[in-house]
Amino acid sequence: MKSDMTGKVAIITGASSGIGKASAIKFSQEGYKVTIVARDKKNLEATRQDMVSPDDVLIIPADVTNESNIEKVVASTVQKWGRIDVVVNAAGIIGSGTIQTTTLSDWDYMMNVNVCGPFYLIQQALPYLIEQKGAVVNVSSVTGLRAFPGILAYCTSKAAIDQLTRCLALELAKDGVRVNAVNPGVVVTQLHRRSGMDEDKYAAFLEHSKTTHPLGRVGKPEEIADLIYFLGSPQSA
Ligand code: NDP
Repeated sequence: MKSDMTGKVAIITGASSGIGKASAIKFSQEGYKVTIVARDKKNLEATRQDMVSPDDVLIIPADVTNESNIEKVVASTVQKWGRIDVVVNAAGIIGSGTIQTTTLSDWDYMMNVNVCGPFYLIQQALPYLIEQKGAVVNVSSVTGLRAFPGILAYCTSKAAIDQLTRCLALELAKDGVRVNAVNPGVVVTQLHRRSGMDEDKYAAFLEHSKTTHPLGRVGKPEEIADLIYFLGSPQSA
């Protein structure tokens, strides 16, 4: 039997593209009111148009590396909807670099987007999540679980978000707040192209990925969004 999610509220970062956008659409299809967050307002507007009930969408252009932006995401959501049931941290970046080529500022920026942003958003939303016995879903990666060459800061950031997830799951279980991560393999989004991969290299990467993924294919954002929805919703409580 389908549960009634009317009135429930999700905050989804990275909702202007890829996995975050697919997640925003999924939560909206299931009846949630959704705050969608990313830097690009035009792309957030496009996400809103693809959602089931555009009136139940709050757009907040924000950079997850900016503390006051994150505070605004939480304050505006509570002001508009009065509660927070779910936080999905899907904003993220990838970048190549080895120990020889990763600068300290590359490293810091990767950590700021992929780890510090989620940490601070969860911290700010926590009182409301506790009130609703809500849930957090962090979008990690297979690279948090296994080492891959040439993406040092990215792999380390994903291992960090995995450990943050485990620690918080343990800390917050007593409050009834569930904290999980998903660890996808390659999914077709803008992630790799934004990191500077040109179309030819991206096509070759996707072709090669058929041999590195047991199903012989890469993933679709909607497949990851279904899992994020399951982990975020009371179905998994
Ligand atoms: P996309 O590049 O398609 O989407 C990334 C999203 O993050 C965009 O909405 C972007 O919006 C947002 N974002 C990036 N930087 C910031 C920032 N500083 N502040 C706010 N928002 C930001 O990539 P994916 O959908 O693939 O990536 C989502 C997550 O999934 C990432 O954490 C990624 O590591 C993870 N993942 C992806 C895989 C893949 O193969 N695609 C595999 C495994 C994990 P905007 O630019 O408008 O701010």
